[in-house]
Amino acid sequence: RQFLLSVRDVTRIHRLEQMRRDFVANVSHELRTPLTVIAGYLEALAEDAQDDPALLRTYRSMEGQATRMRQIIEDLLTLSRLEAAETRPGDGEPVSVPAMLASLVEDARILASEARLDINLESDTGLWLNGVEQELQSAFSNLVSNAVRYTPAGGSISVRWYEDRNGAHFEVQDTGIGIAAHHIPRITERFYRVESDRSRATGGTGLGLAIVKHVLQHHDARLRVESRLGEGSRFICDFPAERIIRRANPAT
Ligand code: ADP
Repeated sequence: RQFLLSVRDVTRIHRLEQMRRDFVANVSHELRTPLTVIAGYLEALAEDAQDDPALLRTYRSMEGQATRMRQIIEDLLTLSRLEAAETRPGDGEPVSVPAMLASLVEDARILASEARLDINLESDTGLWLNGVEQELQSAFSNLVSNAVRYTPAGGSISVRWYEDRNGAHFEVQDTGIGIAAHHIPRITERFYRVESDRSRATGGTGLGLAIVKHVLQHHDARLRVESRLGEGSRFICDFPAERIIRRANPAT
């Protein structure tokens, strides 16, 4: 028996995939405006309900859900854009990853201060990448925000940016809840969540790692995940040496 796909099959699959992408992008886009209107009204209603604590709580909770929905829509749009982008190996421009990480970690520290998380940054200040700044920012911030969200109070997170003979590496290690081995192969799928209730409560969209995966593909890079349940996780992005740009170290 013949199991090979014909050229016509491949074209058909390609077309279906394109339709799926366009559909998701269009729906996401169309949902944006009505959601903004609803969120606006909810804010006004909440202001009028200041004297009624029960009603106020309800409106606040609805506002929270509207914010979540907006986040999902934004992430879906980001994903569709990433999927549609035709990038070639080597595409990009010089990106100051050290500067990006400094501000990203600063923001994360503010977010994490309430949870008493210790966030440590170790970064090679002369190590830049040839890449797409906005995409890298989105991938790195997703990984850092995951570490913050899945690490219980009092834990620590370490972010590293360094070069070795294999290339450049961005690494986020946490002392968080960890991921069981059998889940690891699936966590970069859209909407895949290890424990949906807990994940939902932490405020994510289930799309973060799918975004990370696509961004890394665009940069000829790959993601490695090492994790132990109850002990913590380490997410490592490996960038090939060809992507590295060396800048004079500003400190020297
Ligand atoms: P979410 O918005 O749910 O965090 P992601 O795509 O970013 O979606 O991650 C997918 C799932 O992988 C999460 O729901 C969570 O179960 C797991 N996960 C991701 N990062 C971590 C981490 N640092 N520690 C433990 N589990 C994680």
